[in-house]
Amino acid sequence: MREGSLEAPKRHPLDWKNPEFWDPAKLDSELERVFGICHGCRRCVNLCTAFPTLFDLVDASPTLEADGVAKQDFAKVVDQCYLCDLCFMTKCPYVPPHPWNVDFPHVMLRAKAVKFRKGASLRDRLLSSTDAMGKLAAIPVVAQTVNAVNRNSLARKVLQSVLGVHAERELPPYAGRKFRSTAGDSKSFPVKNGKQTPGKVALYATCYANYNEPGMGHDLLAILEHNEIPYVLAEKEACCGMPKLELGDFDSVEKLKIKNIPVLARLAREGYAILTPVPSCTLMFKQELPLMFPEDSDVIAVRDAMFDPFEYFVLRKKEGLLKSDFKQALGKVAYHIPCHSRVQNMGQKTREMLEMIPGTDLAVVERCAGHDGTWGVKREFFDNSMKIGRPVFRQMAAGAPATIASDCPIAARHILQGMGDEAKDVEKAHPLALVRKAYGI
Ligand code: SF4
Ligand code: SF4
Repeated sequence: MREGSLEAPKRHPLDWKNPEFWDPAKLDSELERVFGICHGCRRCVNLCTAFPTLFDLVDASPTLEADGVAKQDFAKVVDQCYLCDLCFMTKCPYVPPHPWNVDFPHVMLRAKAVKFRKGASLRDRLLSSTDAMGKLAAIPVVAQTVNAVNRNSLARKVLQSVLGVHAERELPPYAGRKFRSTAGDSKSFPVKNGKQTPGKVALYATCYANYNEPGMGHDLLAILEHNEIPYVLAEKEACCGMPKLELGDFDSVEKLKIKNIPVLARLAREGYAILTPVPSCTLMFKQELPLMFPEDSDVIAVRDAMFDPFEYFVLRKKEGLLKSDFKQALGKVAYHIPCHSRVQNMGQKTREMLEMIPGTDLAVVERCAGHDGTWGVKREFFDNSMKIGRPVFRQMAAGAPATIASDCPIAARHILQGMGDEAKDVEKAHPLALVRKAYGI
């Protein structure tokens, strides 16, 4: 059997509408098959804690093979996977079209989905309801109260014992005013389409920019305006569904898709580029929804119109449609590329953009920081999350940067926390904020 392939990996759609997908015995047999291949390969041992957990179980089993691992222990491996996709995208030589057809993250996702249907904890339901939580916290007094609770160590201990949110995890504050209600209208500019980029943008703001860091959204709009690119906000939006997907809650993902996709598909068909400032949300529309709903032409239209903001800017630059009148140097910046940007397979677009800015000394770290959306927040995974992130914390601190940045705002917060004392004099800024600053706008 040949190892590896010269062909591009091909991801099969998730067969979740098929009753067999939900059959626990069939799932166990697929888990055992894939675990057996991984045990013989072991390339991914240092990617995350799922693989060491698996290999320890195999090594302790009576047969020293995957078939000797008790089926109830399979969940221990599944729980350690936070679906970063890196094993599929960067390591595995047995991904389809290889006949062994190993898609480790998707088997993990299937196991999470089967477990979710048996019942999920209140903590998991709350943490993954980013939109509902954000709406609640957007009420001014509530936002202040939630932020005060998050900063209070006694209250955090209570939160840990009642809800299982680790007391030491630094949580993002809620903003007093939502991005969507404070975003200004676009000036009227002529639409200049490029060969690969539409000349007008529709923004899907994301829960995070809307409720937690509205500045990211405002920075993106300011960059568009500076480059005379007209924009609109998607007139309605719900959560992209990524936090629900990570739990295996496919039914909620479908409900959110039914809210979002018609609005976004209309914008796609009207010729807008759709941008989202959070890589996990971009990935949801580019990859995960198309794998769940491969026959849905609206989902495919949205996928084809969706850009990471820096992917869009770098393409515009190549088309001669992006300004490079940068006025301010950025100095020493340590920049982290999050997994959900890497698996978009678009190259290092943020890096390319930041490197265009004169007087910027960029150190790039391309390694998983180990947080994921909600995984690293949970009491039982916090320690592993910090352990996985340690090499990233070290590399980001090396060279004593003035600023640290990541496209993923959650990873950036996690990295700053992990850097500890070394982050004392370091500023955290989203790459969009850095570009805006460099333009002097
Ligand atoms: S998807 Fe990420 S977390 Fe899950 S097993 Fe692969 S590398 Fe580990
Ligand atoms: S996912 Fe692929 S590369 Fe990683 S251990 Fe399993 S078989 Fe090996």
